[in-house]
Amino acid sequence: MECIMRLTLILVGLAFLAFVPESLTAQGALDATAIQAARAVADAGDKVDPNQFVQTLIRRFGPRLTGSNSEHQSAAWALDEMRRAGLSDVHTETWTLHRGWKRLHAAAHLTKPYETKLEVASYGWSGSTHGGVSGEVVLVDGNATLTKEAVRNWRGKIVLVAPISKDGIRGVADAPVLASWAEKAGAVAVIDGITRPGGMLHTGPIGFPGRESSVPILDMPEMQRHQLEYLVKQGAQPRVSLDIANRFTEGPISAENIVGEIVGALHPEQVVLLGAHLDSWDLSPGATDDGTGVAAVLAAARAIHASGVLPDRTIRFVLFTGEEQGLLGSQAYVEQHRAELSNFVCALVMDWGAGPITRFPLAGHPEMEGPLKNLFQADEALKSIDTSSGFLTFTDGFAFTLAGLPGIGLLQDSPDYDRDAHSTEDSLGAVNAPALQFNTRVLASSAIWLADVRQRPGSAFTQAENEQALLPVRSALEMLGVWPYERSSSPTPASPTH
Ligand SMILES: [Zn+2]
Repeated sequence: MECIMRLTLILVGLAFLAFVPESLTAQGALDATAIQAARAVADAGDKVDPNQFVQTLIRRFGPRLTGSNSEHQSAAWALDEMRRAGLSDVHTETWTLHRGWKRLHAAAHLTKPYETKLEVASYGWSGSTHGGVSGEVVLVDGNATLTKEAVRNWRGKIVLVAPISKDGIRGVADAPVLASWAEKAGAVAVIDGITRPGGMLHTGPIGFPGRESSVPILDMPEMQRHQLEYLVKQGAQPRVSLDIANRFTEGPISAENIVGEIVGALHPEQVVLLGAHLDSWDLSPGATDDGTGVAAVLAAARAIHASGVLPDRTIRFVLFTGEEQGLLGSQAYVEQHRAELSNFVCALVMDWGAGPITRFPLAGHPEMEGPLKNLFQADEALKSIDTSSGFLTFTDGFAFTLAGLPGIGLLQDSPDYDRDAHSTEDSLGAVNAPALQFNTRVLASSAIWLADVRQRPGSAFTQAENEQALLPVRSALEMLGVWPYERSSSPTPASPTH
């Protein structure tokens, strides 16, 4: 997910206890063997070409919107690749999507005070104008709390949201509220006020998790939005003609997570999970969101199998779908596996663009730091990877975090992430092949190490423990309405139903 939805909540807390090297105990000797295994797997990772996976995925299937034909076809390909990588029990696990959505077309022209073409793109699961319509543009302050009075003049109008400077999460939380007011007030369309770099069109979900809107919710390049805002403020009463067509498909529809594993030789019931999401948005093929994550997971599977090293614990590889609509596939996976969750050591998920992995934010699980540091300090190539507290929310790892597990969304050095993700430009040119190779090494060696280290890493928190661990992100989750426990009395945005 991108800039608004993929807000990191990186909260650096107090440093955890410093790492103390293992003494030369029997356990230490066994872990030394595990380190050797990790090194062998890492070296095997260097011989696998992860770039071939992303090239094939993007060229053959293009955009992979959840529930679309191309997403289903790419799932069949991913199953094949998992089998070719030597994984066992390769299968799909289905979950249900309320209904699908398809982008048809979007045209926009300024017709007053002068004529010029505008660029717009619909947000996912938003509606249509049902033919060409024209309306005056009205400006709404993105920071304002909406009331019946405030939306009184929206009927037949195109609502332009002035750039939102407020807290990004509040902006996400308010998006469905804004859409709902627009529907109720009879607005023609909403032009969103989220600012992204690069001047390109972006798409995304309406809120988190994504909601539907019968009114088109539109993105527009920043310069054009500023121009409209200027004209409104000058009293020019600008008019825009729109022809926006999208189609909701019949629902519910079946979507699938793709699963394969290498069964642990000693503790087959214990699981180290590596994940990424197969689905993408549909303005471009999602080469780095999350094609490169998919490629790294498949390449790590191939590397571990090719190394001949058998893990003590099971390593499970999962390619989720529905991530872009609000972690739907991973949340479904967690629900479907609730009975065995206490056996999950951790979930490592790659979904932060093209760059090299720089950090394992511990997702409220400081007990993961020691084991991870042991590995990173033993491999010169991985020495600079940081392990400190923090959460990468809004990607599939967080579904596991919410369930009390170390669901670690890996942070990557991807400076162009906010520009490229969900945009028209997330295609093969955005792929960083050397970083992808490095990330394969990191994923493969981390997985085998966490599967082999003598003392089981990771804890499955009780509800009370997890509430405590999630405190740094509690207010944000409550604002979005996704806090998994009893709510506090923090204010929620007003909506027309209130
Ligand atoms: Zn993503």
